[in-house]
Parts: sequence; C-alpha cells; structure tokens
Amino acid sequence: AEQTYDVVIIGAGGAGFSAAIEAKKAGANVVLLEKMPTVGGNTLISGGEMNAPNNWVQQNLGITDDTADLFYEDTLKGGDNLGSPEMVRILADNALASAEWLRDEIKVEFLPDHLFQFGGHSRKRALIPVGHTGAELITKLKAKTDEEKITIKTNMKAESLITDEQGRVTGVSATTGSGNKITFHANKGVIIATGGFGSNVEMRKKYNPELDEKYLSTDTPGTTGDGIIMAEALGAKLTNMESIQTYPVCNPETGVISLVADSRFDGAILINQEGERFVEELERRDVISKAILAQTGGYTYQFWNQKIADIGKTIEVHQDEYDMLVKQGLLHKADTIEEAADFFKVDVDTLKETIQKVNEYAKTGDDLDFHHRGGLVSLETGPYYIQKAVPSVHHTMGGLVIDEKTRVINEKGEIIPGLYAAGEVTGVIHGSNRLGGNAIADIFTFGRIAGQQVVSEN
Ligand code: ADP
Repeated sequence: AEQTYDVVIIGAGGAGFSAAIEAKKAGANVVLLEKMPTVGGNTLISGGEMNAPNNWVQQNLGITDDTADLFYEDTLKGGDNLGSPEMVRILADNALASAEWLRDEIKVEFLPDHLFQFGGHSRKRALIPVGHTGAELITKLKAKTDEEKITIKTNMKAESLITDEQGRVTGVSATTGSGNKITFHANKGVIIATGGFGSNVEMRKKYNPELDEKYLSTDTPGTTGDGIIMAEALGAKLTNMESIQTYPVCNPETGVISLVADSRFDGAILINQEGERFVEELERRDVISKAILAQTGGYTYQFWNQKIADIGKTIEVHQDEYDMLVKQGLLHKADTIEEAADFFKVDVDTLKETIQKVNEYAKTGDDLDFHHRGGLVSLETGPYYIQKAVPSVHHTMGGLVIDEKTRVINEKGEIIPGLYAAGEVTGVIHGSNRLGGNAIADIFTFGRIAGQQVVSEN
C-alpha cells in the first residue's frame, strides 16, 4: 500500500509531537508514525521537568538572576564542552519560548510555586508539570493533535528511508503490527524523532562496551536506535555515540527510574551500606552513578525525613511507585533512625554520626564534607524513609548530527536533502553528559524547529 503526505514524522514522543503540531500549523498535511501500540515514548515515562532560564515560576519564587547565558554555560560545561556551542546557544535562547508554547498553546499545566534544581545547574530552573511526570505533556500534546486532526499511526514501524536519484529523502518504508508493508511518500520531507538507543544492549556495547547487560535501563522498549540506523544507511554522520548516561537512583530489580526519589532535589542524602555519605547528592548523574558503583555492592540508599518529603510531595504524586517499592522491600518508612538502619542492616552508629553532621551542616549552611550546592536540610525529626537504589541506563547523548535548522548532516558535512531530526536521536547538544531537565527542553525546542523548517524550506 502507498500513502502520500507533505511531512512524515517517525516517532511519537515529545520531539515528534511538537514537530507534527508545528508542521500542521504551517499548513502541511502530516502523518506521525509510532511503532509501539501507544504514543509517548520516554517523554511519557520521564519526570517531565523542563529547564527554562528566567521563567515565570522563578519570578514567583523571587529568583531574578537567571539568564540564558548561565543556562548555556551550565549545559556546555555539564557535557564537558563536547556539545556544539552553536546548538546549545539555540537551546538556551529558545527554552523559555518552548516552555511558554507548551503552557499557552498546548495547555500544559506546570506547578506555579515549585522548581527543581537538577545536578549541574547553577540555578533552580526546571519547571515541573502537574503530576510530576511526562504524562501531563503527552496527554495535552495528544489532545492538541486530535483537535488539529493530525493523523497518528500506532503499531507502524519505520524500517527504512526512501530516496530519489539525487539522494533526496522522499519517504519512509514501514511495516504494520501484522507485518504489512506500507510506503509513506513525503512531498516536503521526513523528520526522524525516534529517541535514543538505551534499550538496545547490542548497540550500547558497540559504542561503549562498559554499558553491557549488567545495566538495566529506565527506557521504554521502543528505544532501540532505529532512527540512527536508518539515517546511517544514507551516510549520516554520528557524534558522541560512546556517551551513554546512567541515572543514579533506579529500582534495582526493574531498572525503572525512581521518581519518589526526586526528594533528592529537596535534600535527601545518599549513603552506603556502611552508613556514610560518599558523594554530593546534586552532583552530575555520571559522577553520582560512578560513585555508587564504587560502594559496597554497587548500590546506594537514599535517606530522607518527612519534612523533606513534604517539600516536593514526591510520595503523594508517585503513590503507585511508592507502594510498589514498599512491596518489593526496597523502601521502608521508619519512626527512628535505628529502625531505618536495621531494615537494610546499615551500620547504625555510623549512620547516626552521618546524620548528626548533616544536621550541623544544615544549620551552618556549609556542608564541609561534600559542599551540597542546594544546602542540606536537617534530618533531626522523623519519620524517616530509606530506599535502596542502583544506576540504570537512561539517556544516550550521542546520535545524528543536525545543523541549526535540524537538517541531518552526512559524513562529508553536507545536508541530506529532505531529512530532518530532533530529540534524543540527535547527538549535538549534551556532549558527554546530559543535565537533568535538559532533554525536555531539547526535544521541544528542536522538535518545533524541525516542524517549522520542513515546511518553510520545501
Ligand atoms: P524524544 O524524547 O526524542 O521525543 P521519545 O523516546 O520520547 O524520544 O520518543 C521516541 C518515539 O519513537 C517512541 O515512542 C518510540 O517507540 C518511537 N520509535 C522508535 N523507533 C521507531 C520506528 N522505527 N518507527 C516508529 N516509531 C519509532
């Protein structure tokens, strides 16, 4: 079978949805292909937080000294300066507009009075969608595509890109869930928004043998690098492929990211089996992950009290995950420090000493051991929470090289005509390490550009 559209978009995560909505707004007839039975990708199961410098919630909270320049510097430095400065500049200058677009056009609701300061950020600047997950984003994006009558085809896996004699990309060859082959012709162009390759162990090992099956992954099963492989077949240039990020605090049995453990951004500490802190809790993800793996057993315990839990309400908003962790014996609520230590057989005397020091540093505002950048919070009063966790593969920084208009670049440095890409499938923004809250900022900023560009250029 054959079908013809102006724009064919592969992958219905945040990047694909925003590209589709913008392309449609620019007047194009659009189809969005998704290989899984449901839309959303990793965007859906993420925490959904989005960095935007100088945003309206910062103003509500009296944070008046954040700028696009600071965000630019944090992001480049956070990736060891391996991101492309020109592309990071575009991200930094447009992240706020992307957030306002989500708020005003897509009707995404963000909390008016709370922000996260993820590791590596010099300011508290991550907006939090209600419910603290990407579900708020994807639900609203899906409603917008319905309203705009944009065609979405689920169970539709893109297999390869089609080109004409001049090498221009003119469509996509896809298969349905039942194995039927369908050709989607694209009059204007194709946008790849297929996400990363964290769930593809063979591909991980090909680019970085360290990230083998000993790591579980936080990613959806669809995160297998298809877009990278399809574009590579046309000579696309890849970059930063060895840079694969682990998220430090995940479920040791399933690999799933722990959102309950977002209390870390409100002051929860990390300790080892011996009851000692061993890293600054707001360090970069790679640094914390490495530090955890170097501890006894290669795991950590996150420890916090009710006072911290009440700040971000991470238990209430992630009640299902909380109940599951308790059932799995991976999280325990205790009235006293002794009881918390006893549950996981942590050395209680050392833990008490550790907590005493934390209380002292909370008072003085000066963490003499690890220089906690958010300022430690007193753990004087219970009840307490203790949660076992491991690092798990979370984000692949590497991928396709795109230019400032999201056009895919080949090995010779030339534009592949008719081909655009946005989101985790690209490799130019995050360098060696993506900072928290930067994926959502990236996918919506460049997803929108891709959708606008494919129409205006063709
Ligand atoms: P991003 O954050 O970059 O938007 P996501 O992981 O949120 O990435 O979304 C990528 C989407 O692309 C997922 O829903 C995934 O199932 C889908 N996808 C991946 N490969 C293909 C493919 N070959 N054909 C169609 N959809 C795909």
